[in-house]
Amino acid sequence: NVADLTGLPDGVPEHFHAQGIEELYPPQAEAVEAGITEGESVVASIPTASGKTFIAELAMLSSVARGGKALYIVPLRALASEKKEEFEEFEQYGVSIGVSTGNYESDGDWLASRDIIVATSEKVDSLVRNGAKWIDDLSCVVADEVHLVNDAHRGPTLEVTLAKLRRVNPDLQTVALSATVGNAGEMADWLDATLVDSTWRPIDLRKGVLYGQALHFDDGTQQELARGNEKETAALVRDTLEDGGSSLVFVNSRRNAEAAAKRLADVTKTHLTDDERRDLLDIADQIRDVSDTETSDDLATAIEKGAAFHHAGLASDHRSLVEDAFRDKLIKVISATPTLAAGVNTPSRRVIVRDWRRYDGDIGGMQPLDVLEVHQMFGRAGRPGLDPHGEAVLIAKSHDELQELFDQYVWADPEPVHSKLAAEPALRTHILATVASGFAGTEEELLDFLERTLYATQTDETGRLETVTQHVLDYLDRNGFLERDDRLRATGLGHRVSQLYLDPMSAAEIIDGLRDADGKPTALGLYHLVSRTPDMYQLYLRSGDRERYTEIAYEREPEFLGHMPSEFEDNAFEDWLSALKTARLLEDWASELDEDRITERYAIGPGDIRGKVETAQWLLNAAERLAAELQRDDAEGIPSATTTAVREARKRVEYGVEEELLDLAGVRNVGRKRARRLYEAGIESRADLREADKSVVLGALRGRKKTAENILENVGRQDPSLDDVEADAETAATSA
Ligand code: ADP
Repeated sequence: NVADLTGLPDGVPEHFHAQGIEELYPPQAEAVEAGITEGESVVASIPTASGKTFIAELAMLSSVARGGKALYIVPLRALASEKKEEFEEFEQYGVSIGVSTGNYESDGDWLASRDIIVATSEKVDSLVRNGAKWIDDLSCVVADEVHLVNDAHRGPTLEVTLAKLRRVNPDLQTVALSATVGNAGEMADWLDATLVDSTWRPIDLRKGVLYGQALHFDDGTQQELARGNEKETAALVRDTLEDGGSSLVFVNSRRNAEAAAKRLADVTKTHLTDDERRDLLDIADQIRDVSDTETSDDLATAIEKGAAFHHAGLASDHRSLVEDAFRDKLIKVISATPTLAAGVNTPSRRVIVRDWRRYDGDIGGMQPLDVLEVHQMFGRAGRPGLDPHGEAVLIAKSHDELQELFDQYVWADPEPVHSKLAAEPALRTHILATVASGFAGTEEELLDFLERTLYATQTDETGRLETVTQHVLDYLDRNGFLERDDRLRATGLGHRVSQLYLDPMSAAEIIDGLRDADGKPTALGLYHLVSRTPDMYQLYLRSGDRERYTEIAYEREPEFLGHMPSEFEDNAFEDWLSALKTARLLEDWASELDEDRITERYAIGPGDIRGKVETAQWLLNAAERLAAELQRDDAEGIPSATTTAVREARKRVEYGVEEELLDLAGVRNVGRKRARRLYEAGIESRADLREADKSVVLGALRGRKKTAENILENVGRQDPSLDDVEADAETAATSA
């Protein structure tokens, strides 16, 4: 009984009770028995939506009640604010919450006053590197979605971060939440934790496969699905709707998600009440308000009819509008890429896994998804208390495939997860950081530290870690990031690289490039330099791109910093061109090309532009700091003209404008489009804006009084009121 729980802050058990959480779910009861409210470490490997968050809350709240401090590690930045909002409910019981996102360089000292802190593993890693003092005060850490240690890109950071936190405080309560995996026991061994391993779910889940007209379920039953010449997915969605439920459709690419939403909107539009139609129109308007790109227009059009798509290319405001409207049952179907399965809390009556294969760039072909992933999608089926049961359905194209899908996904157990730490790129970053932040002062200490990782728990390949570690130490030494004699010491440059959260290889590339620059490098040259570092996800080359960008490469060859590979070095040349494509996107953005034109030209979403822009900003800022560090350290130095060029290129990409607009675009609420309109009307700077004729300002801002007043206020104008001002007609006409 939840009311009987002890060790929590006053009022919290009653709060849970009022929320309808009266009895512990069986896995939660197991966690309590294991001592979750008494500081004991637990690995909970249980299905999606079976109350894992509650287990975490028990651990964190009881730890805070004992005077401690808790950290909740989320796998995605997008989830940090969602979790923070959830935990803010406890502020009324005197528990303070902080979320740490953004900038990888700050030490986040203000977080010292918070009881519960939410952050991504990358952010925690960078806070440790920057010496945040409150890290020493942590008494409890929760790692959400810990099975992601299996992920080659993000897993190693989570693994090393947990090892560091446990090194700082050997008594740290560690709670790891995992989807059901094949080897949760190994994770419990690694973290010295009690294992709670369960397949219990609060709502029954029926799993099945559709083939032809028949839906075959794992309990042996069958349902006839009369579908004429309707496509499988459409028929399943319609069938759910007729039963008063909504559906989630998982597909394998963003483009497919968008196309499916468009088609499925034709199904949902005939199942809406007048009220729903009105509310949906309202949401569609809000979507169009966020940005006026083709993607948002497509999304709005689908939403008007009761359908939506969801993928990582969406702006985050779009994502939350879609998720909320789906929870409110206004949107009847979402077609999504698997990001939605990974944590966003959007249960639905029926889950349809339409694509169980995905394109794998490393192999160059379609690959079946992991069981673990498909089961996580399945787990989104069924809303406790609202649906009689959840249903998860795969679609077979042949009779053979029907059996295959049952064997491969319905009956199959999820795979074990394996550490990806022993790869050079991962160790390059983490070894430098481990040495720079004082966790190891000798090679022996370093290996001893690495022994605390999951990798060491799992491997029986003796010597592998030592060998890779030697390679990495050589690399770091050769590039001037650390010194090795009988001790290991990070150089000034090495410390800087670690604090900037750069992959050392990115830093080496940037330093070489900056040294190569004579005179003032161009923006494209600098964008290309940062785009070819391993810290930038480059755009793919599509058909025709190789020719297109080869041509540009020769045309603009003098602008590039560093050596351009020859066309005969196939892979290196391809990479160079991918970086060029990425750099061109940044250049287009900084040359004020419309967002819409950019998304079209590069076949990406508006959220992707943001992502590239933010990464470029971070890397150019890092380049500036590295230049300053070299100035200090090294007789050769970097000429100041180069540093100035880097700063300008960074500002241009930050605001998405030409140089002449930098002053104006920096004013709050102005932005790239309005800055250009003001400039065209003869208002070229902040100073101009403070002096200019108000009717001209208003005309340039298309007669929007609120916006104009706001901007005038932000720029510090004495009397910003536009009460009796009319927009100047000529300016208004030009800026329209
Ligand atoms: P998970 O984190 O495992 O995906 P959540 O913790 O978000 O799942 O739980 C899913 C839902 O179940 C939440 O709405 C939560 O309030 C509810 N819930 C959790 N534990 C209980 C309980 N013991 N009794 C009733 N509802 C619960």
